[in-house]
Amino acid sequence: MHTVVVGGGIVGLASALELAERGLEVVVCEKGSIGSGSTERAAGGIRAQFSTPTNVELSLASMAVWSAFEERFDVDIDYRRNGYLFLARTDETTAALETAVEMQNERGVPSEVLEPEAARERCPGIDSQKFVAATYSPTDGFADPHLALQAYARAAGDAGVDVRTGTPVTDVLREDDGTESGGRIVGVETPDAPLEAEYVVNAAGPWARRVAAMADVDLPIAPKRRQMMVVDSETPVPESDPLTVDLETGTYFRPERDGEALVGGHLAGDDPDRDPDGYDRGIDFDWAADVLETASEWATYFGPESRIKRGWAGLYAVTPDDNAVLEETVPGLITAAGFSGHGFQHAPATGRLVAELIADGEASLVDIGALSSDRFGTERERLERNVV
Ligand SMILES: Cc1cc2nc3c(=O)[nH]c(=O)nc-3n(C[C@H](O)[C@H](O)[C@H](O)COP(=O)(O)OP(=O)(O)OC[C@H]3O[C@@H](n4cnc5c(N)ncnc54)[C@H](O)[C@@H]3O)c2cc1C
Repeated sequence: MHTVVVGGGIVGLASALELAERGLEVVVCEKGSIGSGSTERAAGGIRAQFSTPTNVELSLASMAVWSAFEERFDVDIDYRRNGYLFLARTDETTAALETAVEMQNERGVPSEVLEPEAARERCPGIDSQKFVAATYSPTDGFADPHLALQAYARAAGDAGVDVRTGTPVTDVLREDDGTESGGRIVGVETPDAPLEAEYVVNAAGPWARRVAAMADVDLPIAPKRRQMMVVDSETPVPESDPLTVDLETGTYFRPERDGEALVGGHLAGDDPDRDPDGYDRGIDFDWAADVLETASEWATYFGPESRIKRGWAGLYAVTPDDNAVLEETVPGLITAAGFSGHGFQHAPATGRLVAELIADGEASLVDIGALSSDRFGTERERLERNVV
């Protein structure tokens, strides 16, 4: 075997597909079923409005894939380029947004800073009095994570990837080279049999720290529970509305179909360091009431007659600076995890970069120097923190 990918979420499957398309023999070990991790619990947001150059570059490279997805995979993933609207209530947030927009524009992202009234033209339901500025980019949007994940799984299988569900990796094996830390990766252990491999890809999302530990590597990637709900709003949310975020309260919504909206936010109930196997996958009543009330204070759609239809919780895999780890961590071990809430949208580029690291020995699609794990605990971690 050439490569074993640990994790059948969108990052693992995109990596496996890209490797197979380069003619390499790949097995994906997924301990549960395809979709049992975070990917199918995501909001599906896809944006280039980030505050670090690396995240913007990952977005642009991924958007090229999302835009041509239907032609390549023959699946309509309901990709809607409605834009993203970020709303600021303070001068400090506005300044951070202005700096980010300048950096984004230098890279060709058509984002812009708007006055509150102009923001209301993009999203008629906001109370513009509450805000001092906004940013908007028309090429941002969202897609259906379930459809995208299943399309990647099918394409990987068609390309020759051996996708094994119900197959947990229980150990990552390293050559005994006489050193304490261990030598090159030589394979993995599974309940069925050990699998020899030249490369192992850690794409285990919220479980990535555990998989890294199997190879005697410590990475600061923590599971963090996040909740979402579908709301039948008092006033229908237009299907053309952008994904709209109030940066100060952390609440956001995006239109679903038929006037409903997906609503989320990081208020109460947003607990770090959950056991990734044992967390509550439903929503907390207090969280739902709190988020809906907060959203109703700035978005007129969510009046008292709004009804919560259903909701769910999933796990972000967060790092201290909210940026991913993407690197060859020890010889033969590729880490592609810790995406901190942007792993769905960045998976297409990540898959390509994992394949480049393995097949070419270096990444070229995007400069991923900022995503190496040696940044943790240094000044780089503070300076390159992703704030939007
Ligand atoms: C509520 C919510 C909203 C979100 N919204 C967005 C959004 O709008 N846009 C965006 O880009 N991202 C969003 N995200 C984040 C996104 O879901 C993740 O970043 C992304 O799905 C990560 O994909 P992954 O493949 O790394 O992980 P996962 O999909 O979690 O896959 C990891 C897989 O590894 C498997 N695994 C773990 N350990 C082992 C083992 N030892 N052996 C074998 N298999 C193993 C797991 O079973 C799992 O299936 C959101 C997340 C949540 C929870």
